[in-house]
Amino acid sequence: MPLRAVAEVNLAAIERNAERLRRRLHAHTRLCAVVKADAYGHGAAPAARAALAGGASMLAVATASEAAGLREAGLQAPILVLGALSPEELDVALAAAAEITAWEPGFVRSVAARAASAPAPIGVHVKLDTGLGRLGTRDVEQALDTVRAVLAAGPRLRLAGVMTHLATADGDLDFAAAQLRRFGPFVAESRALATTEITVHAANSAALLRLPDSHFDMVRAGLALYGGDPLHHDPADHGLEPALALRSYVAALKPITAGQSVGYGRRFIAAGDGLIATLPIGYADGVPRALADNCEVLIGGRRMPLRGMVSMDNITVEVGSDDQVTVGQRATLIGTDGDERQTVEELAGRVGTISYELLCWISRRVPRQYHRDGAPA
Ligand SMILES: *Cc1c(COP(=O)(O)O)cnc(C)c1O
Repeated sequence: MPLRAVAEVNLAAIERNAERLRRRLHAHTRLCAVVKADAYGHGAAPAARAALAGGASMLAVATASEAAGLREAGLQAPILVLGALSPEELDVALAAAAEITAWEPGFVRSVAARAASAPAPIGVHVKLDTGLGRLGTRDVEQALDTVRAVLAAGPRLRLAGVMTHLATADGDLDFAAAQLRRFGPFVAESRALATTEITVHAANSAALLRLPDSHFDMVRAGLALYGGDPLHHDPADHGLEPALALRSYVAALKPITAGQSVGYGRRFIAAGDGLIATLPIGYADGVPRALADNCEVLIGGRRMPLRGMVSMDNITVEVGSDDQVTVGQRATLIGTDGDERQTVEELAGRVGTISYELLCWISRRVPRQYHRDGAPA
């Protein structure tokens, strides 16, 4: 019997997406694979290996423990922690030999104090907030003081890079261009202060696709690597291949007659005779309740409407009355089946969110099954 719910992850697709993204970059521009949040639900270590095989040369995560997890899995590539670090988290990041993000001279001095016993210099990336209003400093002078603090800390620290992050690379490109104009002088002054090469980086997936001026020395791509569309329509628009398929199967099939209801709250009441398939996947697996009566599922290469409420462990799908649907048959929420295809962007649009969030919702209860174009990975 099939698994009740499974996320099939095609590592060859991640590898090819990395190659495709690299081809959009200058030869000298590096690709940093963003594998935070368990690689957007795809599995951090396998996704990282696939991205590196496809030409990425650095990994980025949000948290220190994500960096530690990659090291435990045996990954040796440079890892950048993008997020803020508390003192405890900083120790975890340093133990993982991760590079870190800084924007305050005081933080840099505390890193230097803790890095005394580090086997190799700690790479520091100084972040200027050019308009996202989140991490980093808006104050160019403070950012330059942070650069100077790294340079003054001696051999324990290394000025690895300077960076910013764009707020509207998937939307208002004028604002993105204004952010890059703010970034420019900081980059120039940092380069003048630095005694060695530094890596300048700003672009996320959307900027990689839309804003060549933002590529600099490295781009930080997450969603596009996994074959998602950072512009929220269809990854095929950019020649990207979705790596993840979310599937369940028909566990039960039963006739329904006019007036009978299905699921909690009797949300769906049959208007006529039909057949209802129960699929053992629910919101505890990451299928949002907001998809109740609001999406389709692919069975036997055809689209069938989800009926009634999404419950914790099950959903119900109306499969018509005279059809070939059988118990045990595969059902696809995200992915392709025959000639039909349902993208995570389509589902995300139905519940008013973005693909990023839906992918992160696929829970730990759903086993990830790795393959390479259908062959066991
Ligand atoms: C998550 C993140 C990225 C990657 O964003 P995508 O849109 O998935 O490519 C890049 N940079 C920073 C700072 C991030 O937090």
